[in-house]
Amino acid sequence: MPKKKIALIFAMKQEAEPVLMMLGLREREKLLDPRIPMQFYEGKFGQNLEILISINGRDERFGVDSIGTEPAVLNSFVVLSYFKPALCINAGTAGGFRSQGARIGDVYLSSGTFKFHDRRIPIPGWDAYGVGSYPALFIPGLAEAIGLKTGIISTGNSLDFTDRDLEMIQSNQGAVKEMEAAGIAWVASTLGVPLIALKSVTDFVDHHELAQDQFLKNLSLATHTLRDKVMGVLRFLDAQSEF
Ligand code: SAH
Repeated sequence: MPKKKIALIFAMKQEAEPVLMMLGLREREKLLDPRIPMQFYEGKFGQNLEILISINGRDERFGVDSIGTEPAVLNSFVVLSYFKPALCINAGTAGGFRSQGARIGDVYLSSGTFKFHDRRIPIPGWDAYGVGSYPALFIPGLAEAIGLKTGIISTGNSLDFTDRDLEMIQSNQGAVKEMEAAGIAWVASTLGVPLIALKSVTDFVDHHELAQDQFLKNLSLATHTLRDKVMGVLRFLDAQSEF
């Protein structure tokens, strides 16, 4: 039986590291163009899965990981058009809301649609285009089997937020706030590849402490819960005949 291909897209190396260590994957050569910063890792999982993990890679000019929607779009376009997976998973970290019962290290599975909260275009037609609302694949039984919270993922290109961002996240009914998923979802919907996202909470949006301080303190815990849930999802998918 041919293996089912799954692509996993991460923004930061630190987010992917625990998964890469556990799977023991080796880096493979660049796909498509050696000039792009993305890093790729390939391997098999269980009985039926062939996986490709890609990380946005380092920005050589600034010496930091290439986070945000532009690298995420380039990464996902390369991976989805080259690898042609049956399913794409965007895994990473996000801000959660204490008011919605989130805890640090909780992992949310995307539900409903992926939305942007910082593309405000108050012209009929373009307003909805700005928000995006690209579909998230619903996999029956997955959240329950793995112990995932579910919610709408809201994407913007800032770690902090303005009052308008917060209003938009509320009108999006966002459960978590991060910086890549809706960009990847645009590529996935354009190329017709089903997409889910797994986002582990590193910080609370509704907390007096700055997101960056919380983020750095909680990154290790959140990436380890993320690893455990990614493994659970891969085991679940390995055992499915269809998804
Ligand atoms: N300050 C960090 C930089 C990365 S933070 C550092 O020095 O290492 C932003 C990354 O984590 C993005 O990839 C984003 O998707 C995710 N993220 C986590 N919490 C977030 C939040 N509250 N708002 C937006 N993005 C968040």
